[in-house]
Order: sequence, then C-alpha cells, then structure tokens
Amino acid sequence: MSPARRVAVVGAGPAGLYAAEELARQDRHDVHVDVLDRLPSPYGLVRYGVAPDHPRIKSITATLSRVLDHPRVRFRGGVALGADITRQDLLDRYDAVVYAAGAPADRRMDVPGEDLPGSCSATSFVSWYSGHPDAEQPLALDAARVAVVGAGNVALDVARVLARPPEGLERTDMPEPVLAALRAGAVREVVVLARRGPRHARFTPKELRELAGLEGVDVVVDPYGPDLAEARAGDRTAQANLRVLAELAGRPPSGAPRRVELRFHARPLRVLGERRVTGLEIERTQDGPGAPADDAGERTVLPVGAVVRAVGYRGVPLDTVPFDASRGVVPNDKGRVLDVHGAVCAGEYVTGWLKRGPSGVIGTNKLDSAETVALLLDDLDRLPERELLGLDNLLESRGVRPVGLAGWARIDSAEQDLGSARGRDRTKIADWPTLLRLGRAPRPVRETVEEPPWPS
Ligand SMILES: Cc1cc2nc3c(=O)[nH]c(=O)nc-3n(C[C@H](O)[C@H](O)[C@H](O)COP(=O)(O)OP(=O)(O)OC[C@H]3O[C@@H](n4cnc5c(N)ncnc54)[C@H](O)[C@@H]3O)c2cc1C
Repeated sequence: MSPARRVAVVGAGPAGLYAAEELARQDRHDVHVDVLDRLPSPYGLVRYGVAPDHPRIKSITATLSRVLDHPRVRFRGGVALGADITRQDLLDRYDAVVYAAGAPADRRMDVPGEDLPGSCSATSFVSWYSGHPDAEQPLALDAARVAVVGAGNVALDVARVLARPPEGLERTDMPEPVLAALRAGAVREVVVLARRGPRHARFTPKELRELAGLEGVDVVVDPYGPDLAEARAGDRTAQANLRVLAELAGRPPSGAPRRVELRFHARPLRVLGERRVTGLEIERTQDGPGAPADDAGERTVLPVGAVVRAVGYRGVPLDTVPFDASRGVVPNDKGRVLDVHGAVCAGEYVTGWLKRGPSGVIGTNKLDSAETVALLLDDLDRLPERELLGLDNLLESRGVRPVGLAGWARIDSAEQDLGSARGRDRTKIADWPTLLRLGRAPRPVRETVEEPPWPS
C-alpha cells in the first residue's frame, strides 16, 4: 500500500482548521495533516479577534477543537513559518502545503499624525483586549473622548469595548490587567467616523442593535446619518442598518454618563497634536442622496485624546511564498498558489483571509477551505510520491520545541482554572513565558521514525 500523503496547514485559525477537517474526513486519499501555528494556541481570530463579550460566537471553538482531536491531524503550535521554518523546509517534508495564516497586519489611514502616541490600529487594540501574547496596551485610555475611524463591525466592537461600563465586561475572558485598565479608564465618549453614508456602512444590523441596546450608553446619530430615501436604494443589510439608525436618530438622549456618536460622511484629514493626540481634523464628504451637499468639503476639528483606526486588516508575506503586496494576499486561482508569472506552484495552496482578503465571517472560511482542499485532493493524484523528511527532528535541531495538543490542553485548562477562581468560564493567559511553560512538553519530543508517527 502506498504511504500516507502528508499535508501541512500553516495557521490554526478557522480557515486552517476547516481545511484540516476537509482533508481528514475524506476517504479518496490516506492523508495525514500537521496544523502549524506560530502561537501555542489554535483558533486564530476566534480567540484573538471575536469580541470577548460575544461568547456565543466564540463557542465555535468547541466545534473547531474536534478537528484537532482527529487521529489524522496533529497540532504543532509555537512554530512560525518564516522564523522557525522556511517554505522550502515545508516543501521537503510535505506532499502539499496549505497557507492559512490570515491577515494579521492593519491598513493605514495615510494621514499626517497617524503615528502620534494616542493613535493606534484596531488590530493592536483588539489584540490587547483579547490577551494576545504579542500585544501591549496601545492606548493610555486617559482621554475622555476617543475617535474610532471605520464603518465595519470591528469599529463597532472597539467602540463598544471602549464605551460600555466595564461591569459588562467583567465576566468575559479578558486578562485581569486589561479589565483593570478599562475600569480605570477615563473614556466616556466614542465618536465613530464613517467616510461615506449609512448605505455604504459595513456594520451588520445585529451589531448595530447591540450597540443601540447597551445599558448606560446613549447612542446618537449625526444629522447626516439615516436618510430613509436611501434605504430604498440599498441592499437588505443597508436597509436594516438604516432602520436601526433612523430609530436611534429619533431617540432623545437619556442623559446616560457614556455616549457613542455615529457620524457619517466624515473623512479624517489629519491627526492633530504635538506629543500626543489632541484632535482629529475631518472633512465632510458627499456621496449620493442623504449626503450633506451644502457642507461637502467643510473642515472641522474634533477634539479627541485618542484615535483608533479600524479601516481594515491586511495579509503579510510569508517567507518566500508568492505575495501580492497591493492586495495583501497570496495570489491564487481558487486556492492554488500562483507565482509572479501566474503559473501554478505545484503542491502549494492558500485559504481564508490570506486567500481572499480580510472579509467574511467565520463560516465563509469553511466554504473557502472546501474549495481549496477539493483542488488539492484532485492534484494529489498527480503529485509524485517522494521520500519526505520529518518535521519534529528539524524543529529539535533548531531548538524549537513545538506545543502539541496535550500542551494546548494544559494551557486551556489553566485558563479555565484561572477563570473559575474568579467566577468566570475562562481568563486568558497573555504572556509568552507562561504559555510556553505550560504548552511545551517537559522533554523534547523525539521522532523515532520518519513515517507519519501518529496513529492512522
Ligand atoms: C476584530 C475581529 C472581530 C471579528 N468578529 C467576528 C465575529 O464576531 N463573527 C464572525 O463570524 N467573524 C468575525 N471575524 C472574522 C473572522 O475572525 C475571520 O473570518 C476568520 O478568523 C479568518 O480566518 P483565517 O483562518 O483566515 O485567519 P485567522 O483567524 O487570522 O488565523 C490565522 C492563523 O495563522 C497563524 N499564523 C499567522 N502567521 C503565521 C506564521 N508565519 N506561521 C504560522 N502561523 C501563522 C495565526 O497565529 C492564526 O492563528 C472577526 C474578525 C476580526 C478581525
């Protein structure tokens, strides 16, 4: 019988785990899968992006975890492509490689003053409140008013975390230092700035309604916000958004101590300040019905002590894997990686945000990975069988001790213990030394055979 084919999946976020699931559950080929991640924990942005006060969405990890339990799947955390291993290392060790490393960098506003202290990306702010081990607190939270630039759900997540009374976050998995900083923070008003009108906003009505329903927070909409004439022109999401916005626009403020303003047709021109952010210069824009035709081009200064830009995520290059810097993705044809000349790179595939850019919900990645893996399985028939090297021996020779499933289980249960001591389901551990101490096996794991060492 021919030996099992080996596939490496780089990235244990939803896209990588859905790809591993597709590979493990098919029976056309005997395939063994190594899922690698630079972090000692799986789940990518489900763990480090989805808002901590959205536990129901986060509970998708219960389904995703079953992929890692599959006997044909191994988890190798704490292994970064580009730092610990190269693309060539993977090509020498696997019949096929699926890149699923997401879009971890942020897009910029490209305005002067963007790098002043007090101005940061949503990427860094979200990573911090999610307890990502690379993240430091990016804002002092000592300003009473903060601007959040962006018109998508990430902007609303950031606005909600900043504006809501911290008691509402106490039972989440946020690390204690994050909760302490939010409790001590001075933020009382968040102004969400959208460059275009409500019809073009990418919020989902559900997130908007959640914001509108926050206790202790007045949510107000600027006069150029909802124009019901626009609602007829937009798609269903836009129409639903406009209904919520119109309801908010008609709601008298209750005098709550905290406030979120949704301001449309407002484009940031400049972050103001000498040593730190003191304001944001904005310009009124015009785009279709409901837009402030008379005021278009008008410039105003919004006094704010901090600015968070939530204007999008972006992929980063992975070692020598082909990369389209303008789109921030790996160039591909339905998931088959293409080189600079547009030719297929045999045995290399891509899925998730790194394939199509940073859009879509968790479930979108399932379909995306199914498309990629279907092509991979077709190609496996044609990919020659080769003598493949082992991964763990290589890692050991480089002093890299990967975190396996047992190591992740130790981290997982330590976080649950930490949480239950404080009456929560989980409290995240956010520092590398503790994660690695818990995650790494007591002794280096040694591969004794070069054949797939895990049971099939
Ligand atoms: C702030 C935020 C909130 C969101 N909220 C929701 C929500 O409420 N509901 C919803 O449905 N969707 C939500 N999404 C979208 C959802 O998270 C994404 O669709 C999904 O996570 C993308 O999956 P991915 O696997 O492509 O990328 P990711 O989830 O980013 O996973 C990529 C993985 O690759 C790893 N990696 C990166 N570089 C390397 C490397 N060099 N070597 C090895 N491993 C590497 C990373 O550590 C990570 O684990 C949210 C997204 C963000 C940013």
